[in-house]
Amino acid sequence: MKKKGEIKTIKINQQELESLLYFLKFNKPFRYLDQKIFGKDIYKSYGGIYSQKKIRDYGLSSKDKGKLFIYSEQQVKIIIKKYLSEREIPLVDIIEMIKAKSIIENYKNSYLIARDVEQAKDILGPIARNLIQTLFRKTKIEIGKCEFDVCPEVKLQTAHIDIDRPKFLKDAIRKIGKNEGRYNIFKILEVFLNDHKKKGCVRFLCKEHHDELDSYKKKHKSKKSKEKIKEFKSKLIN
Ligand SMILES: [Zn+2]
Repeated sequence: MKKKGEIKTIKINQQELESLLYFLKFNKPFRYLDQKIFGKDIYKSYGGIYSQKKIRDYGLSSKDKGKLFIYSEQQVKIIIKKYLSEREIPLVDIIEMIKAKSIIENYKNSYLIARDVEQAKDILGPIARNLIQTLFRKTKIEIGKCEFDVCPEVKLQTAHIDIDRPKFLKDAIRKIGKNEGRYNIFKILEVFLNDHKKKGCVRFLCKEHHDELDSYKKKHKSKKSKEKIKEFKSKLIN
């Protein structure tokens, strides 16, 4: 069994890898990809530009061109492989995930002595908050405007929808548990990060709508607020 969050071994052919590398890192036009990578005669018709269709099949579009230019060739190859193996995750989230993972690397071999899950949660809380900020920073920029209905606000906050950040953290702490009387910080944060991969677990809302959602969640046990949450969620844009 593969561990959650691990890169699955997938078969990826060299052409696929090269085309995405040249598209995402080297900012090459489709014409170039058609000729140099796919060996297509650009004067023949393939029902549109061949590589453009290919790129679309990967769930990418022209606006992703050159997106990974700051990464090294090796890093880009890792990102592409990960992207192709977990297609349900948007490319931008994978990039941030890799960045967030490099942050938690700093906690390797660090341990926490805490009384219980609750206390460990309080201590690790600020680190977890920073990680989430890093993880979704770019996505937030891409989303651009409040995801509630037609709200035009562009100043956004990261909002947890069904499960809150402290709950994610507590679950991660419980899952890893105590070993020889101490908590393994790296392992906890790794679980915490991986749990955030689920699509839709966070949305981007303006302060007003984030506060509105939170006010219903505070009283989530009452029937009325359950309905309010449901109604609120139905107005989130896809
Ligand atoms: Zn709003």
